[in-house]
This record gives sequence, C-alpha cells and structure tokens, in this order.
Amino acid sequence: MNFIDGRYVAGRGEAFANHFPTTGEVTGEIRAADRDQVDAAVGAAKAALKGPWGRMSVPERMTLLRKLADGINARFDEFLAAEIRDTGKPRSIASHIDIPRGAANFNVFADQVSVLGTESFAQPTPDGTGALNYAVRMPRGVIAVICPWNLPLLLMTWKVAPALACGNTVVVKPSEETPATATLLGEVMNDVGIPAGVYNVVHGRGPGCAGEFLTSHSGVDGITFTGETRTGEAIMAAAARGVRPVSLELGGKNPGIVFDDADFDKTMEGIGRACFANTGQVCLGTERMYVQRGIFDRIAEGLAEKARAFRFGDPFDKATTMGPVISEEHRSKVLSYYERAKGEGATVIAGGGVPELQGFEGGYWVEPTVWTGLPESSPIVQEEIFGPCTHLTPFDTEEEAIELANASPYGLATSIWTENLTRGHRIAAAVDAGITWVNCWFLRDLRTPFGGSKASGIGREGGVHSMEFYSELRNVCIKL
Ligand code: NAD
Repeated sequence: MNFIDGRYVAGRGEAFANHFPTTGEVTGEIRAADRDQVDAAVGAAKAALKGPWGRMSVPERMTLLRKLADGINARFDEFLAAEIRDTGKPRSIASHIDIPRGAANFNVFADQVSVLGTESFAQPTPDGTGALNYAVRMPRGVIAVICPWNLPLLLMTWKVAPALACGNTVVVKPSEETPATATLLGEVMNDVGIPAGVYNVVHGRGPGCAGEFLTSHSGVDGITFTGETRTGEAIMAAAARGVRPVSLELGGKNPGIVFDDADFDKTMEGIGRACFANTGQVCLGTERMYVQRGIFDRIAEGLAEKARAFRFGDPFDKATTMGPVISEEHRSKVLSYYERAKGEGATVIAGGGVPELQGFEGGYWVEPTVWTGLPESSPIVQEEIFGPCTHLTPFDTEEEAIELANASPYGLATSIWTENLTRGHRIAAAVDAGITWVNCWFLRDLRTPFGGSKASGIGREGGVHSMEFYSELRNVCIKL
C-alpha cells in the first residue's frame, strides 16, 4: 500500500508480484502509485510544511525522531520479518544491521540537529560599515528519497531521519523489490504523532513509473538517491529541470589491498565479510582484491575456505549465514559474470555456480565465488557485479597497489590491511575513494562524511554533512 497524507491507499498504477527470494514464491502484489497519486503525495508533503510540522521547534522534532527510533525498536520483530521476507537475508544480518541501524538513524540525527550551529560575523564589514551577519538554516522543502533494495530500511532512514530533523517533509520511493519496511514505517509515523503528509511512500518502478514521476515533479525541492550509477545519471538529469539539488550515493567496484605484513587472522575475518556479507550486495563490498605476492596463496586459499563455509537456507534459521540474491533478474546478471569469468579463462578457486539446496529450488541462489588470473581490463575486474564474488590479483610494491586500486571509474570505498600504520595513512591519502578503512571494513561512525568519488556519487551524507544537504543556509545582515 502507498502511504499518502497519513493514510494507506491502494495504488492505481501497474500491479506486480512481490517474491520471497529464498524460494521464489509470490508473497503478495504491489500496486504502484500512478502519476496522480505521486502528485497527491508531493502535494501532501508541500501542505505539511505549512502545518504544525512547519511550526515545530527543533526540540519538539528531536523528541518525535527519538520516538520513531523507539517505535521501530518496539516493533523490531515485525520490521525484521518484513525485511527478511522482502530480501531473503539471514536473520543474523537483518537483526544486527538492518533493523537496529534503521532505528538508530533517527537517534543519530536527533543528536546531530541539537548541536547544529551556523556562522556569524559581528565585526564591521571590510568597507568599515558596522553590520551583524548571521546565517540561519531552513528546511529545503519536499525531499524525494529514492532507495535501493540491498539495505532497505537502513538506507531509507539514513535519508529520512536527517531530512525530518532539518524540518523537511519527504516522499519516499522504495525499491520495487523491497516495499515492506517503508510501508510499515508509516504506521510508526502515525503512532508517534508525526503530522500527516510529513512522511509519504509511493511504490513502483523507476523509469516511466513512480520513480520518474517523483523525481521529475516540480513540487520536489531536492532529491536524495542511493542506487546504481546509471540511475543516478537519469536522476541528475531530472533534477536539472528546476535546478534542484541532488545527493547521489552510487555504485562501486571497491578494492581491498592486503600487504605481506597484515595480521592474517584479522585480515581473513575482515575480507571474508567485505567480499561476501549480504551475499555481496553491499555497495561498499570488495569485488577486487590486490594481495602482495608473498602472502597471495595463503590469502587466496583462506578466502576460498571462507566462501565454502557459508550455510545457505531458511533466513529465519539462526544457523543460516548466506541468503540468496534479491531477484531472478539479479541472479541472471551475477551468473552472467560467473560464465564470463570462466570464458575468459579465470581460475575459479571457489564457487562459480549455483548451490543445490533441497526445498529452496526456486530461490535466487548463487555460490560465493573467488577468482584469480584475469587481466585488469576484464569486465569482472572493472564492472560492479553486486554479488558474493571477488577477483584476486597479486602485486609487488605499494606504488603498484595504489595504481591498480585507482584504475577504476568508481571511487567509493577501499580497505587496506597492513600492520604498518604509516603506510596505511600514506595509501589512504593516495587512493581515490570516499572512505578508506585500515584494518577494518564497514566500521561506521555515523557522524563522518559518507559518499563516493568519481562515478560513485556526488556529495556527502552523515553527521553535519547530511544537515548541509537537507537544509539551506540563509544569511541575515543587520546594519548596526
Ligand atoms: P537502482 O539504481 O536500480 O534502483 C534504485 C532505486 O531507483 C529504485 O527504487 C528504483 O526503482 C529507482 N529508479 C530506477 N530508475 C529510476 C529513474 N529513472 N528515476 C527514478 N527512480 C528510478 O539500484 P538497485 O539495483 O536498487 O541497488 C543496487 C545499486 O545501489 C548498486 O549499484 C549499489 O552499489 C548501489 N548502492 C550504493 C550505495 C551507496 O551508499 N553508495 C548504497 C547501497 C547501494
């Protein structure tokens, strides 16, 4: 159901089936919002800016944001089940990452808005005229929030929370693959007393559907998007009409660099997660590993062992450690790269196919896969696959590793594994990426700038950087 102006409404657009990726079973039907319904959602969001929400003080908004976090936590199991049914991801992941972070985002940005200051200048202006200049932060207005399917609640609230903290209203278009948690959040919004129209959800696909109706709507004042780089280009083009600001968190082909002196066990634990967590469907995941020659064989074999050790199955079973990929279509994409790797003569040291799983035959399963032996020019090494797979290339010198890491159109994340921290700092400065992790991966402090370089995005979110995107600074000049 779409959630417009505080009420659930059946979509009048196209209908499509929602699948449980674990079995392929149809779990429900999604009725997309048509153009008029998207228009109604934007209208409700616009009107809410002029209602009680627009008059609310920052402390009042902070209280409501904290209630939203509490409200998600109070219905933790419902959110968990909804996220698992949409994605097939194991409970062990969704209960540790997706839902807790989905709730935590509201507390983090409530904290953030409480310490948000602006600059002021009480000195005479340079020409000697006495004036007091200060800046105020105003909400931008209606923010369109377009989300992907890999971490649905987490990535959606990562944008909704700061948008609301700054006093905006939102229209969310969740991924067509994962509509459930955004929909459920509407109930929590109503329960905690968020005024109608502040949070709206419209369902449907992107091009020619709800996504495009929303991003091209003239009533939208800013667009925040997480998803593929190609979609980001389309959204940026839509945002150009009316000169609306965009924040784009896009794709990646992230390198991991392992030096001979790395702590072997900690590195294996870290890169095992970096390559395979969430079935490889993490924008920050590592699909290309560069390993110093002296430790290459050990790392390759260690990673292959990790790949073979995953347990597939029922995501609600605590013993399951890897789920399927999101859809039949995405599985075909991932498997096309598996075939291509074989065709190009890669050495497949783990996986490379589809696991045989009794009782889950219709699910969208792929094996975690480790390759070596391909040239850097191969699409396997250049293109984002977004599956549980990685390619390992040996290197000899630090300079070579930096060059290999930077030879990509993307620049989202890097991880460096070394006991030599001086080298860690040096490489972090030399690698073109929005975030560099040294001896860790996906360790997030939500106050830090998050975003990508090159084709991985525009702008930074997180901490004060989110506040900057979701508000507009205005200067006030008073003649003294
Ligand atoms: P996607 O780009 O296919 O879709 C994302 C969203 O955009 C969906 O809601 C989709 O319906 C919508 N959309 C598609 N075309 C649109 C259009 N023309 N106009 C408006 N909306 C449109 O991405 P996905 O497949 O859902 O997610 C996977 C991608 O997301 C990967 O590339 C991954 O790297 C990226 N991602 C990036 C980050 C990050 O922080 N940088 C985080 C997670 C995922």
